Order: sequence, then C-alpha cells, then structure tokens
Amino acid sequence: MTLTDEESKKIKGQLLKQLSNFPEDKQEQIKKQVESMTTDQVENFVKQNQLTHLGGECIFCSITGGKTPSFRIGENEENIAVLEINPLSRGHTLIVPKEHSDNIGDSAQELAKEIIKKLKEKFKPKAVQSNEIKIMEHPLIELIPIYGGETERKQATEEELKTLQEEILRVEEPKTEEEPSPVDTGEELFKMPPRIPN
Ligand SMILES: [Zn+2]
Repeated sequence: MTLTDEESKKIKGQLLKQLSNFPEDKQEQIKKQVESMTTDQVENFVKQNQLTHLGGECIFCSITGGKTPSFRIGENEENIAVLEINPLSRGHTLIVPKEHSDNIGDSAQELAKEIIKKLKEKFKPKAVQSNEIKIMEHPLIELIPIYGGETERKQATEEELKTLQEEILRVEEPKTEEEPSPVDTGEELFKMPPRIPN
C-alpha cells in the first residue's frame, strides 16, 4: 500500500477527529504528533494499527459492516450496540447506526434505552449518561455508566471486553418462585364454574 499525500492528509484529519478519545492532558501532545507525521509515517501508523479502511471507510461503518471486529451487546434493525474499547467506566457502550447519516434516529434512541436498562440491571451504576456524539462524522450515542470517580479512559484488553460482553449477554435464570403454578393456566381457569351474577 502506498499512500498519496492527499490520502495521508485525509487520514491525519480523521485521526485528529478522534482526539477526544484520549485523555485531555495528552490531546495536545498527540495532536502535535499527528500533525508532524510524514506521509511515510502515516502509512506505517496505518499498517501497524491495521487501519486499512481509514483511507476510505469510516471505522464505524467498518464495524457495522462486520469488517472490523467489535464486541456487540445488542442490536436492532438499524443499529448495533458495541462495547467501547477505551472505556471511561464498566459497561461504556456505543450505539452505532448502521447508516452513516447526519443524525441519530428514533430507533437508535430505542436501542439506547434497552441497553441502559440492561446496564442498570447488571452493574447497578448510580446513573447512565447518554450523549449524542459524532466520531469520523458517524453519529453515535455514547452510554456511560456512572459509578462515581470516573476520570480517565483506559484501553480495555480483548479479554476484558469479552468477559464483559458475556456478562451483559448472560440471561439470568428465572427464580423458581416465579414459575407459574397450575392454577394460573388458562386451562384451569376454563374449568372453573361460571360466575353467578348478582
Ligand atoms: Zn460511518
């Protein structure tokens, strides 16, 4: 792969748009680094990070298209929910519309609601913050469970994300006392004598 200067410039621009993913005190340093990269260095960076799609496609389109692996914890027709790889807190999730459009649709908000409910059940955070954001011009909803004391994003390992994904997707065993007793079934009700009217 050989990048043209034009492509290199485009990739730099896309990298700079992701600055907000890094801790604030590091952003200025990273910005300078990215800006000073030569075309060769950009090319090496892209190779090292396997960002082969950066020249053309946005990373979230690549995730929704299944070309970039991600840890899914939910889905509806128009959106997927994936675990953030640089989470600010346990269960930090992104709702990613499959369509790279300008705005967040109602169906993304619906999926966000579903996931918020699940995160609350599983992890009992004090709250779940929901923000509409854009990364690489792809509209997203960011869901951040708040436990208190979140200050810094930390890159999660694949193993951590996998464990978390399993935990979120695990279906709780129904409690035995909630099992319906025979009198609850329609059949039993049907056999009951008819009510005598007053
Ligand atoms: Zn996109």
